[in-house]
Amino acid sequence: MTAADTLTTTPLGGPSLPQERRLVTSIPGPRSQQLLERKAAAVAAGVGHTAPIEAVAAGGGVVVDADGNSLIDLGSGIAVTSVGNAHPKVVEAVQAQVAQFTHTCFMVSPYESYVAVAEALNRITPGDHAKKSALFNSGAEAVENAIKIARKFTKKPAVVAFDHGYHGRTNLTMALTAKAMPYKSGFGPFASEIYRAPLSYPYRDGLSGADAAAKAISIIEKQVGADNLAAVIIEPIQGEGGFIVPADGFLPAIVDWCRANDVVFIADEIQTGFARTGAMFASEIFGIVPDLITTAKGIAGGLPLAAVTGRAEIMDASHAGGLGGTYGGNPVACAAALASIEAFETEGLIERAREIGAILTERLTQIQAGDPRVGDVRGHGAMIAAEFVTADGSPDAALTAAVAKACIAEGVIVLTCGTYGNVIRFLPPLAITDDLLHEGIDVVAAALAAS
Ligand SMILES: *Cc1c(COP(=O)(O)O)cnc(C)c1O
Repeated sequence: MTAADTLTTTPLGGPSLPQERRLVTSIPGPRSQQLLERKAAAVAAGVGHTAPIEAVAAGGGVVVDADGNSLIDLGSGIAVTSVGNAHPKVVEAVQAQVAQFTHTCFMVSPYESYVAVAEALNRITPGDHAKKSALFNSGAEAVENAIKIARKFTKKPAVVAFDHGYHGRTNLTMALTAKAMPYKSGFGPFASEIYRAPLSYPYRDGLSGADAAAKAISIIEKQVGADNLAAVIIEPIQGEGGFIVPADGFLPAIVDWCRANDVVFIADEIQTGFARTGAMFASEIFGIVPDLITTAKGIAGGLPLAAVTGRAEIMDASHAGGLGGTYGGNPVACAAALASIEAFETEGLIERAREIGAILTERLTQIQAGDPRVGDVRGHGAMIAAEFVTADGSPDAALTAAVAKACIAEGVIVLTCGTYGNVIRFLPPLAITDDLLHEGIDVVAAALAAS
């Protein structure tokens, strides 16, 4: 069967694709190879790719390539297609909106769907205080705006981010991001007044949450000073940095310190948000209520949308015209977000994320029991990672890269991450079936055994 046959039998793309791993050529096949040659000639070298394929359809838990291969998707396009790729409700909402109007610019002629997305975010984000939202195009843009809003509210300049943090690739967000290669190297100078504090990383620092927080707070007080500090920004579970889950008590202690010192606490939930971790937002797992929360990735079933949501008095500190952008809250993206949020709330996806997490954790822990190179298995819900180490516990980036490459060659898309490049992260669409998930893990186990 060719990809064209697959497409004609599945006009909606998406979930009606056969949910199977199917290899009919080696990866990349000839048609994918042709596209990669055109890519190399036409697209800037700095824009890399993980799987050497030409994607032509995706849905449920699979991505189909131009050669007719069907790959198991354990990455969701980096935690984006949580509701599943081309979810029918998203497709329907987008088709209806795109035929109605594609753009007016919300700052020129407001429309209802933007307001409805803001209302939904105000309702579903942690905390029952009065909230407001503003919409943007990308995660990095949301983070930039959260910092702008916090500075305007506090009238203070400094921002603290954490070791292993990832917040984007624009100038301000590169400054907030910890890892030089590939995100920052050669792209400076970076924005000023950004400071870095140590994170709680239980597998490597051995500290309790309280001790790790005390260490971070002491550094913040000595090197920055609360009087100068507008905001602390942190991912409740580090994404690109290695799916690092802070020890219990770490995040609440940082939040308490921020409250006591008039510092805005920003949770960057761009990767952890929208049911991914088995809660609507990961902050709930740690019992914290952020002042501001940034969201993107899973928000709109694959369409570009991002948001800052938070305490009304903080969000309202900016003068009219100070926030916004030409495309921010585009009506097609808003329609997709409303359909996605409805899916999160009515299709049992939070529960499904927990089930996926239980399967991943059980299987990976079993693999770890028989293979000391799996140093740590961690995460929450459908955001689980395995950290690979050498015999002396050092990060093993070479093994990690070899396993990921072998998985893709066998038709399973996996992503790596981690400051040391030694983590494989599992972020399957919540629409994946148990069978596909197990088969994907089987392939990872075989690749590890053979590496
Ligand atoms: C992906 C990500 C971003 C950046 O989002 P973009 O849409 O790529 O700009 C910021 N923060 C976190 C935690 C992310 O995972």
